Amino acid sequence: MSLMIPCPHCERRPVGEFHFGGPVQERPQPGAATDQWIAYTYDQPNRRAVQWEWWFHRGACRQWFLVQRDTRTNQVLDSVLPGAAIVGASESGASDE
Ligand SMILES: [Zn+2]
Repeated sequence: MSLMIPCPHCERRPVGEFHFGGPVQERPQPGAATDQWIAYTYDQPNRRAVQWEWWFHRGACRQWFLVQRDTRTNQVLDSVLPGAAIVGASESGASDE
């Protein structure tokens, strides 16, 4: 069985219906150096950890939302709408870094 993603609007659906938007990262402050904006925009850290990620449900409701996933096991732990309180958005769980 393929990975199932729990969309907050549509409930559990196959991963093929979604677009992965990358891990949640802290946005640079306005006026930050160009290098910081380039890193924020293009660098995708490949952590082995529990992390919050952006996902887009392109196959149904066409909404962006957040998924908490353990990248070591590919287990999805939670999903919430943007703006909901999430704990440890940038550094949750263990990491091998
Ligand atoms: Zn949906």
